[in-house]
Amino acid sequence: MTSAPDQGFGTKAIHAGQSPDPTTGAIMTPVYMTSTYVQAAPGQTKGYDYSRSHNPTRTALEQNLAALEGGRFGLGFASGMAAIHCVLNLLRSGDHVIAGNDLYGGTYRILKTLYEKFGVATTFVDMTDHAQVAAAFQPNTKLVMLETPTNPLLRCFDLAAIAALAKQRGALTMADNTFATPYLQTPLAHGWDIVIHSSTKYLGGHSDVVGGALVCNDPALHKDLAHFQNSCGGTPGPMDCFLVLRGTKTLHVRMDRHCQSALAVARWLERHPKVERVHYPWLPSHPNHAVAKKQMRAGGGMVSVELKASVAEAMAVCSSFRVFSLAESLGGVESLVDHPASMTHASIPAATRRASGLQDGLIRLSVGIEDEADLVGDLEQALARLP
Ligand SMILES: *Cc1c(COP(=O)(O)O)cnc(C)c1O
Repeated sequence: MTSAPDQGFGTKAIHAGQSPDPTTGAIMTPVYMTSTYVQAAPGQTKGYDYSRSHNPTRTALEQNLAALEGGRFGLGFASGMAAIHCVLNLLRSGDHVIAGNDLYGGTYRILKTLYEKFGVATTFVDMTDHAQVAAAFQPNTKLVMLETPTNPLLRCFDLAAIAALAKQRGALTMADNTFATPYLQTPLAHGWDIVIHSSTKYLGGHSDVVGGALVCNDPALHKDLAHFQNSCGGTPGPMDCFLVLRGTKTLHVRMDRHCQSALAVARWLERHPKVERVHYPWLPSHPNHAVAKKQMRAGGGMVSVELKASVAEAMAVCSSFRVFSLAESLGGVESLVDHPASMTHASIPAATRRASGLQDGLIRLSVGIEDEADLVGDLEQALARLP
């Protein structure tokens, strides 16, 4: 009923942070729909005084996510962006950030449109090139941040090597582990200071909640992050925490299927005559395949495809699926297709987008857990429409 560090991932996913409700024995963590908590005498609480600061459903989620990432402390947020904002708020004007050049559009947006005006400058670099990363450091570089695999090009960066570079220069490190999930990779184990998640994606896993989280190991860092969480209040409600907790219980089972079907889809696409290129870390043709193999358990559920098609033709393909749904987001049980240039990454200027390798005709698949044959069949009928 409790979880220990030496337990396997599945056992931790189901038990970490969760014990039967002391009042009733309810096996599932209750949704504590309460804003405040009655005190026996002024200041005499049972550990909870106000739900922005703490809520038992959120505590269960925070402990569960910390255990899965192999960290000591978890913090829940109302969205992935609220979690990223919390980390960026550790910076002061005049500080410098080094970020990967292939990022979630909203992460690029918060850096460029909200932090730059306060004098926090960001250098975006291709983190597959370690010399480029090393050269980007300035005396005022305080934070190194990346996603791996990246969105949407699924590039993989060497977590251990980049953490070591940042550590040498005294910079804090934050890895966005949304695409991989802790089942496939744990950045803290490779020397990263903070892991951030959009729990909207695989952790929740059912496209029914928006949420975010941070996990770290250092008590002083946790204290600063928790101070921001409580002061600014971008915290998740108890129902949202319950939904993410419900999701993490099946994370390992869902991820196994996502990975298995994504690999099958990627292999099938690679042989298709209308396909220019498939981006999937578990294909030997992927430029960062060796790094992926070194730090990941499997390739993940995301596959990106460059079609031999014009922008208009690629957009038409996106609208012609029967099993895949055309939508932003990812990581749910149902398969989704996205056209990054016009949807998720539209907030990145076209020239910047193309310079980082994101072609206008690229489509991104979030491979769900429907039957593999139905997914491949759907791709077959959609691609057959190309001239
Ligand atoms: C979705 C996403 C985010 C933002 O999370 P929200 O929950 O939408 O705020 C950040 N990083 C990655 C990699 C994402 O996919």
